[in-house]
Amino acid sequence: MPARDALLLLGGTTEAAALARAVAERRGESLRVVYSLAGRAEARRPPPVEVRVGGFGGAAGLAAFLRGDGIGAVVDATHPFAATISRNARLACETTGLPRLILRRPEWIAQTGDRWLPVDSTAEAAARVRAVARRPFVTLGTADLAPFAGLPCVVRLIEPPPTPPLPGAAVVAGRGPFSQAEEIALFRAHGVDALVTKASGGAATEAKLAAARALGLPVVMIRRPPPEPGEAVATIAAALEWLDRTLAHPDNPQPKRP
Ligand code: NAP
Repeated sequence: MPARDALLLLGGTTEAAALARAVAERRGESLRVVYSLAGRAEARRPPPVEVRVGGFGGAAGLAAFLRGDGIGAVVDATHPFAATISRNARLACETTGLPRLILRRPEWIAQTGDRWLPVDSTAEAAARVRAVARRPFVTLGTADLAPFAGLPCVVRLIEPPPTPPLPGAAVVAGRGPFSQAEEIALFRAHGVDALVTKASGGAATEAKLAAARALGLPVVMIRRPPPEPGEAVATIAAALEWLDRTLAHPDNPQPKRP
């Protein structure tokens, strides 16, 4: 059995990749970092650490991975809507007794002039937007598009599939960060009259909200699922501090485990 001193970093977000880079820079070869991706369109520029791709096989599979791969701590830096893997991470850490930190990006905050229409699901979002718009701009993944069938949406995807994901929809390819000016130009070019988005948070895709505000457009905002309980931080710096307290470091060879 290998020594339990490696970090498992559950990723698939800009913040997770940034944390992996920051840990590699700070700890170099003194800390083994396993960066885990589900296997979607996330790994365009993988961080300079060990990368593994694909599911673990539920909470039990993840617990077995943690035990068998020498993992000493887990950072869950997955997307706020990736509820299953976050739950599995909590359950697997409870089973194995390993410390777990959540790196959770802050929510967007509505500003004066925003016309947000909060909903709880993609189905509710589709119903809500049908009532207020004819040409919505939909920034959801392909797996979330089915309820929008029949609406002449404009859909933005990071990597559009070879076949149209939604009949009748226009597809634009794009990966943030975007500027407000770019977003306004895009909305105008397509005659967009509403925006549909998850309440993902994060700076990379925030400009679409500013564009909608500037154009006076309604925003159907899908609320986040309930967050997993557990220690959570919002910044890379705070996550690095937690790691120094939790996993052995040249300046702190005997960290206190929770
Ligand atoms: P999910 O519903 O919470 O997870 C579904 C399954 O995918 C999990 O049960 C797990 O399979 C596997 N999985 C998810 N994240 C993984 C990871 N980082 N490493 C290894 N396996 C992982 O997740 P999702 O919403 O489909 O999102 C998948 C990935 O895309 C996540 O890593 C997330 O950070 C990223 N992402 C999601 C969104 C979104 O809107 N949901 C947006 C941007 C990025 P097993 O049960 O077999 O272990």
